[in-house]
Amino acid sequence: MFNFHTYTVDEAPCLLNVDTADMLSSYPEQVRLSVGLHPWKVTADWSASVAKIREASKRMDVWAIGECGLDKVHGENLSLQLEAFRAQIAIAEEIQKPMVIHCVRAFDELLMLRRELEATCRKEDGEPQPWVIHGFRGKPEQAKQMMVKGLLLSFGHQYNLETLRFVFTSSRPFYLETDDLHLSARQIYEQVAQHLGVDVSHLSRLCDPRKTLFSRYE
Ligand SMILES: [Zn+2]
Repeated sequence: MFNFHTYTVDEAPCLLNVDTADMLSSYPEQVRLSVGLHPWKVTADWSASVAKIREASKRMDVWAIGECGLDKVHGENLSLQLEAFRAQIAIAEEIQKPMVIHCVRAFDELLMLRRELEATCRKEDGEPQPWVIHGFRGKPEQAKQMMVKGLLLSFGHQYNLETLRFVFTSSRPFYLETDDLHLSARQIYEQVAQHLGVDVSHLSRLCDPRKTLFSRYE
């Protein structure tokens, strides 16, 4: 039961979201890290934080860049958010690691950035790194729109059930997460398994990013 996005460690394997400031030298065996500058924390001097993230991202136990992204509801100054996000996209491409993305009411901008990145990668005959939108709550239409562009989704405690069912039947990978809630990974997996009418062990295999996103580490 891999917890794709969390701020706390339980017994499940997970991608723990950390700030560069509180990165310990080692974590429990089941813990891998994602490191990024959250859009709520973007200030005018974002570049200092992003420089630290670039250094930290080289660590072997850092598997993803994030969460980072765009937020038009709680974040301030969208143009600064865009700058900081672009800089982190560049890091993910440089070190070849996927991104965990926070996106609130900025999906057009997100897709615009994805198109930019794809164009750049095409020129160099490369493939862009996978982007996973965490805590996705959108409707099936929006999920479809994201998936057509190659973006992946991760679901937390709250989601649109129709969307979850759609993604489940799409045969595209998806992931499950506790985010910042005080729940165990098991609780999320049990809830989703019940909603989908499958058993937890099946879901566990299906939503394990070590088999899809992070297979090179296994
Ligand atoms: Zn978030």
